[in-house]
Order: sequence, then C-alpha cells, then structure tokens
Amino acid sequence: MEIITRFAPSPTGYIHIGNVRSAIYPYLLARQNKGKLILRIEDTDRARYVEGATELIEDTLKWLGLDWDEGPIVGGPNGPYFQSERTEIYHAWARKLIKSGRAYADPTTPEQLDQYRKECSEKKIPFLYRNYRPKNMPEWKPGIPLRFKTEPKEYSWHDEVMGDMHTGSEVLDDIILIKKDGYPTYNFAHIVDDAEMGVTHLMRGVEYLSSTPNYLALYEALNLTPPKIVSLPHILAPQGNKKLGKRDGAKSVTEYRKDGILAEAMLNYLACLGWNDGTEQEIYTKEELIKNFSLDRIQNSGARYDETKLLWLNGQWIRKIFDEQGAEALYERTHAFWPDSAKNYDDQYHIKVLAIIYDRLKTLSDLREMTDYFFVDPTINIDLLVNNKFLKKLSEAELETLLKKSITKLTALKKWDADSLQTALNELLAETNKKPAELFSLIRIAVSFAPFSPALHLTLEVLGRDVSLARLNAVASAI
Ligand code: GLU
Repeated sequence: MEIITRFAPSPTGYIHIGNVRSAIYPYLLARQNKGKLILRIEDTDRARYVEGATELIEDTLKWLGLDWDEGPIVGGPNGPYFQSERTEIYHAWARKLIKSGRAYADPTTPEQLDQYRKECSEKKIPFLYRNYRPKNMPEWKPGIPLRFKTEPKEYSWHDEVMGDMHTGSEVLDDIILIKKDGYPTYNFAHIVDDAEMGVTHLMRGVEYLSSTPNYLALYEALNLTPPKIVSLPHILAPQGNKKLGKRDGAKSVTEYRKDGILAEAMLNYLACLGWNDGTEQEIYTKEELIKNFSLDRIQNSGARYDETKLLWLNGQWIRKIFDEQGAEALYERTHAFWPDSAKNYDDQYHIKVLAIIYDRLKTLSDLREMTDYFFVDPTINIDLLVNNKFLKKLSEAELETLLKKSITKLTALKKWDADSLQTALNELLAETNKKPAELFSLIRIAVSFAPFSPALHLTLEVLGRDVSLARLNAVASAI
C-alpha cells in the first residue's frame, strides 16, 4: 500500500513551530516509504484568513527542504488543493448525508440556543445539540447551517501514538458540517478531503483527539474507512505543564529564520521535539531523519520546548556546514546578516572574517553584533579600556608604555600573518613580563573596543597591518 500523508495548514499568517512539526513528520513518513505528501490549504475559515499566508507556508516548507508531491504550485490529480475552491465537492458529499437521513438543516436561532444552554445549566446537565433537534427541519439551502445527525454509541479505536482509545456515547453530538456561509467546517472538510485524496495516515496535533469519536461517526455515515490516526504530542512551554503559546518566548518560524537560525537546525530541532530514535544522536541531517524516523518512537506525552537547545543545535550546524562544506558554503547563507558597515567590503574579506568567528556564532545574526569592528574603526573609549577587569590594576602611564612597546614590536614585523603575529605576541609577553590576559586584552580592546573577539593573532591578521597599527596608534595618543 502506498503511504499517503498530508500537511493541512490554515493560512492564518503566523507559523507556530508546532505547525511546522506537523509538516515534518508526514514528510518523513512519506519519503521513508517512497509515498506521497500532499499539501492542502485549509482556508474555509474566512474570518481567520490572512492575505499572503499561503505563500508564507509554501516558502517556509521550501526553506526547510520539505517538498510536496501534490498541492499548490505542483498541482496533482486530486486538486484543487485549496479548500475554499472545493465547495462543490463538500456540498455533494453533504447531499449524500441528507439523502441517507444523516444530516439536517438547522434553523435554530442564537437566542433559542442560549435558552437551551440555560435550561441545561439550570438542570446541571451537559448541553447537547442532539437533544434539541428542531421539530420542523426545513429544506437545506444557503444561509442555514447543515448539521450531522449523529447516532450516539461507544467508540474504540487505535491511535498510532496514543494507543488504544475508548469513549462513551456522551461525547457524540450533532456537529455542523456546512456553515451558514456555505463553507464546510474543518470537521467535515478534512474527512471528505482525506478520503478524496487517498490519505492513509492522518497525522495532526493531539488537540483533535477528543473530537475523534465524532469523526469516526462521520466516517461510518459516509461509508468510509478512516485512515490510520497519528496524534502528535503537544509542545509544552519551557515551564509548567501548559501548551507552548506566543507568550512563552517561542518565536514564529519566520522570526527564527530572520534571526539566523539555519533551516537544517530548525528541521533537526523540531523533528526531535517529540521523537527520538532511541540513541544518543543529536545532530541529524534530513536524510538521516528520513532513514531513522518511525511512528512508534513518537512520544505520547508533551514535548518541552527549549530554545537554548535550538540555539546550541544551530551553533553545531554552523560549524558542521563550515567544516564539511567549507567557508564559502557557509558564507552563502550569511548575506542577510552582516552589519551595514560591511557592505563596501568584498566577498573574500567577509569570508576571512567568517572563518575566524564562525565557531562563536549561535545564530547568523550574531554577525551583526560581533563583526562591526572588522569593517569600521571603533569609537575610542578610554574608560572601557582602563576599567577592563584585567587592566584596571595598571596605571594609565603603564598602559601607554605597554601599548607603545606593542606598536614598536608589531611595526617591525616583516610578515603580517597569523604565525608571525603569534610569535611576536609571545615575545612581547616575555619582554614586558605581563600576563597574557593583560597584554592581549589591551591590544584586543585597542583594535576592537568589542566585548570579545576571535584569537588576537587571527583578529590582527584579518584586520591587516595598516588598520591594526593605525588603531593602536590612535589609542596610544588618546590615553
Ligand atoms: N487546518 C488545521 C490546522 O491548521 C489542520 C488540522 C489537520 O491537520 O487536520 O490546525
């Protein structure tokens, strides 16, 4: 049997990391089994629809390297892939239910509904639509919602992640199939679409688990065999036992991307948020994920979101790309992240800077903060120099002498490369009888005025002889 999975996002504009994880698992299962992934845009809730949101979804999937076999852009035999363009299909299926006596037009007004709810709350019994079906059911036409006529009974089913489930008949109710605006509800549309599109594995967030009995009742009424149900665990906030929300510090995938999280790291992190292959491995390429993924290792409890881990993984991926693919390959990923001051410098210079700083980056946007002084002379700030924790024991006169000795030594260098600089700096240490932290902090601050820099000899090499000496001289005369 060919495995067919789908990712069915709603175009609401904000791509929560949970949404993306709901794309990754179906993708991995489809690719591992040489099956198909369908992208379907669930845009029937017109109130939540956001212009441009579909493009954002497509762009995010492409960025992560998750291609789809059917759906927007690529097309396919089961289109259209926008639910808003499938109204006729839903209406045709709805008419089947009307014909078999399993759906009815519901003219109940909001006021009547309020009244029924009030009655129930006074009697302290749960409100169920099925106990208040209208006496006279009009013919179904636009403007009147269409409801499912359920037949309450117990349901048992198997969820590939949550295990064997069982519910009593009290959870069954007459859910709306078609709203009064003529668009279907999610509840009805996804069942019709999954069936029409031949979906074999329905993978989605566990928030739909409690509605599953109502869906099973619908499958039955429509004579459909349900796909395998795979409920993906919640992503939990860093603290406590609640679902991760916008207020818990998690950014949208779009923001993380803007901040310089690499697609590989994002994919790696999210794939492992709620799934593991039982080994200690933490870094996975997409190919390794495809190979190792398995439904039975998706965890059934909530997965805790941990931004520190994401940043750590991103750092690992930055190094991995540099080490395995080279400085230029990493540089290609960094164009949007350099400080403004860098724009007049050529690619070669950028690559040199990157090569000495990449192993300190957590995100690519760290480049903006960490590399400015490679492109523009820093503002001289003598206070910062004299108050440095290693330098404050030295008097200003001592600092000046030390700086001048350093300038003399470095000016005499024949070759300005990392090895010669390292040798000269070591000799200076011996000659001045200072601690490395003192001498090197002084030179480092004088050329950068930054809180940290790569190893001093490498920083000086990249800055070059003229810039380094000019900066040291400027500071020596300002002390
Ligand atoms: N459109 C639903 C959502 O974005 C998808 C649920 C599903 O995958 O069936 O939450």
